[in-house]
Amino acid sequence: MTGIETTVVHGGREDLRRLGVHTPPLDRSTTYPVRTLAEGTEDLDHLADGGGDPHHSPIYARLHNPTVARWERGIAELERAEAAVAFGSGMAAITATLLAAGAIGRHVVAIRPLYGGTDHLLASGLLHIRTTWATPDTVAEAIEDDTVLVLVETPGNPTLTLVDIRDVVAQAGDVPVLVDNTFATPILQRPLTLGATWALHSATKALGGHGDVIAGVVATSEARARDLRQVRVATGALLDPQAAALLHRSLQTLALRVRAAQANATELARRLATHPGVLRVSHPSLPSCDQRGIVARQMDGPGSLLTFEVAGGLEAAGTVMESVRLLIPAVSLGANDTLIEHPAGLTHRVVDPSALASTGIGPGLLRVSVGVEDVDDLWADLDQAIAVATGFSVHGAVQGPEVERCPAVPDQLPEPAGAGRPA
Ligand SMILES: *Cc1c(COP(=O)(O)O)cnc(C)c1O
Repeated sequence: MTGIETTVVHGGREDLRRLGVHTPPLDRSTTYPVRTLAEGTEDLDHLADGGGDPHHSPIYARLHNPTVARWERGIAELERAEAAVAFGSGMAAITATLLAAGAIGRHVVAIRPLYGGTDHLLASGLLHIRTTWATPDTVAEAIEDDTVLVLVETPGNPTLTLVDIRDVVAQAGDVPVLVDNTFATPILQRPLTLGATWALHSATKALGGHGDVIAGVVATSEARARDLRQVRVATGALLDPQAAALLHRSLQTLALRVRAAQANATELARRLATHPGVLRVSHPSLPSCDQRGIVARQMDGPGSLLTFEVAGGLEAAGTVMESVRLLIPAVSLGANDTLIEHPAGLTHRVVDPSALASTGIGPGLLRVSVGVEDVDDLWADLDQAIAVATGFSVHGAVQGPEVERCPAVPDQLPEPAGAGRPA
């Protein structure tokens, strides 16, 4: 097993030297000539059965694509998985995993907060899935006879709440656990090595990294991958080969990008925690956000997303978003440039309001996906935007109390004595 830095550069490229090329070829064929009818039938049977052997003819592009399969091998290697299966979006990947697990008409246990779209998919009843919302400590008691899957996201979107994956796997017993690993990326966290059954990504985010591809991918065992490929063939939620080629190119810089953005996020979180216009900051690097020591136990770093609560609630949060000049006021995350958004009004708008409140997604909360720019430029821009919104600047005379408390789930973290600001 090679180191992560080597895997991102060489993963999925094993056959290139034999092919006599340096970069992965982009195969755009929708159909493939069959050599003999007997061979074609055999190849078709293999693929329809969920097989992924690249030595078979793809027959038809909904069954298999070599460019997509190369990127999948790179992701599988990174996630320490036997296989990975790519989809046309993160939501398509989540839906396919639910279908493959047999969740329709059955029961799922999920821990909030989740990505707004995932929360909505489960809470809306659209797929006829019954969902019990558990906390990290109540997974075992939430399991029922027909529970087919436990779903967890850590760090959670958007509050960066951390969940101990090994502990959830232990509580789940025989029920397989799906970890949405989008926020951590396989550079910082590899859920399968912690006992999870599936590690899923919205590859639209850091795996793509440049804001120009929508994609999803699931890493798992070969047996589970066969089920996912069958769902993909049957439902057609494909990844386009052009997108796969971009993703494979982006993979080579994933470790560099994630580490550079993470260093910036850690520094911005530290500075925001002392900003007089900021009530709360959440980033897994802050000790108050990781009281159970989860980063050290299951991650190789705190990641590049942070949230902060600006004084002045919804109106101030809107003013910050309208006042930034370098930061981009936009949803999505994991890009090279820094994006700032308002979860309650945008990404998590579809979530039940009471669930928003109980998971700490308040009207003043802003989420920042930190990019790889110069950290002092990012800080100067954030500070001036917060100053417009609150009247407080780090350069001003007014100095507020030092705060680094997380907007975490109230019943998960004890209230630190004396934390928070007077009303
Ligand atoms: C964006 C996102 C998704 C959905 O992915 P799409 O590619 O937008 O379909 C799922 N989970 C998380 C954590 C996300 O951030």
